[in-house]
Amino acid sequence: MAACAHCGAETELYENGVPICLKCADERQPKPKPPNSDQIRTALVTRLAQATATVSEANQEFSDAIQKFPSGLPHPDGIQRIKNASNKLDIARKAMMTAHKRLNDFMDRGIVPEDLKKAVENLRSLVESRLKAF
Ligand SMILES: [Zn+2]
Repeated sequence: MAACAHCGAETELYENGVPICLKCADERQPKPKPPNSDQIRTALVTRLAQATATVSEANQEFSDAIQKFPSGLPHPDGIQRIKNASNKLDIARKAMMTAHKRLNDFMDRGIVPEDLKKAVENLRSLVESRLKAF
């Protein structure tokens, strides 16, 4: 048995030829870091950009639907198409406002959205299980 170079405890473990006990080896493992605020901000900005693109598409679809009928009442199919396009636009706008709010909450108050927190947790446990296997 050798003595741990860090705390003097008996150990059979070596790290780069230096005796080290399990406890010290564990403490010296690089700790998985939470994603920094840049990563969270990037994720939020990306989602806002995607949501904005979806609004643009839905907006175009809505314009196309209403411009098909420059005069008179549209055919019932046309009305349904306008309704669908209008709904889609409504949903897309709400998603964009949510994305906006999430970004603002994070920038102004440091609030990390729950789903991103979960993604962070998953990443962390993945890293931890890899370290254990190692
Ligand atoms: Zn030790």
